[in-house]
Amino acid sequence: MPATPLEWSVPAAILLCAIGLCALRFVGLRTLQWGSALGCLGIGYAIMLVQASEFSPYKQAVEDAFILCGVILACRALQSRRCRQTSSYIDIAVLLASTAMVIVSVVLFASAKLETFFVQASCALVIWRATISFARQVATTSDKVLTAAFLFIALVLTGQCVLYVAVPTPPFALGEWRVSIWGTLVQYTGLLGSIVLTFAVLIATNYDAIEKYRHQAHTDALTGLLNRQGLDSRLASVSWHSFPDAVTPIGVIMADIDNFKRINDIFGHAFGDMVLARFGALFRPESDAQICAARMGGEEFLLLLPGANLESAAAIADEIRESFVAQRWAPHAPNSCFTASMGVTVVQAGEPFASAIKRADDFLYEAKRRGRNCTVSGDAPRNTAHRLSKSSSKVG
Ligand code: GH3
Ligand code: MG
Ligand code: MG
Repeated sequence: MPATPLEWSVPAAILLCAIGLCALRFVGLRTLQWGSALGCLGIGYAIMLVQASEFSPYKQAVEDAFILCGVILACRALQSRRCRQTSSYIDIAVLLASTAMVIVSVVLFASAKLETFFVQASCALVIWRATISFARQVATTSDKVLTAAFLFIALVLTGQCVLYVAVPTPPFALGEWRVSIWGTLVQYTGLLGSIVLTFAVLIATNYDAIEKYRHQAHTDALTGLLNRQGLDSRLASVSWHSFPDAVTPIGVIMADIDNFKRINDIFGHAFGDMVLARFGALFRPESDAQICAARMGGEEFLLLLPGANLESAAAIADEIRESFVAQRWAPHAPNSCFTASMGVTVVQAGEPFASAIKRADDFLYEAKRRGRNCTVSGDAPRNTAHRLSKSSSKVG
């Protein structure tokens, strides 16, 4: 019996999803691999509807190979997000084993039900394997969306396989299987899976793109630290509850390279950029994710140290200052060493960050007034008189 337009709408819809995902590549989204996967799946479902004069193992093998290839490609697209691909040999082995089972089902048992069971079971196995392995490495919201979609598809396919085994069916004549409830179930499961996958991929890739541009907008390109906008956004999102292990107060260090304009004037802007990058690297948090470092603009940097009291914050500031003084600048400026000034304070419990940052800035300017290359630190005025510490070394 020739396929009805309604039946053709299934592969047509899957292929439309595939074309849509492939086309999104041209607006910069990484959806080509997903589109190719759905393309294979759509072709497999279209071949399923092509009228054959007899129950041929070749047609069944080709249609099922396209469907399984689509599933394998989708799983590879999922795993490529975490740069961990399964070996192609395993995929080829699964494809060959499934094709062999399909041929055995058709040639030896003349059973479309058995053939469908084998291909659906192979698809379910491949999807479970990819989903379980990917779920262990989930890192972002978009990963979670894709994992949920794969889990849903794996559960639907598994349920379908259980139905095949559990529910007895009479033998079908040629062409009857496709128009039976079982054939319809296969087609609409494929359509449902493709639509769920397309939506999940759209949500995930758009979310990835938004995150990428948000990260770029919040990051200083020269130093890799937060920029002013990134800092504002971070501070707006944190509260004291964001620092569960922190013992108040939070240390605040404001730092500024001394006479930086002169460095630019003497050695050039490119060299100045290199100095900025190396100074910024001294603020880069290595392990503690709670530490927040930002380039406030020009040659001014901010470091927030949850759990650091005034003494330890001042000690860290001095350590950074001394490391900067100790840097050597060969070959461009082999005989020069540069200095920085630091202002240090602490955020009192409940105090707005902006107020503590302003106080650290005031201490920084005090350090400049006191001759640069030094650290000036102090608590909020109502608690303690400012404590000043002047470094010993002064280098021109
Ligand atoms: P002070 O010791 O008082 O801080 O003096 P200073 O020269 O360091 O400060 P000033 O504010 O006079 O000059 C800062 C200079 O930083 C001026 C500006 O051209 C330079 N600058 C700002 N942003 C960049 C940048 O991204 N790259 C380079 N190379 N220079 C920059
Ligand atoms: Mg300066
Ligand atoms: Mg400055």
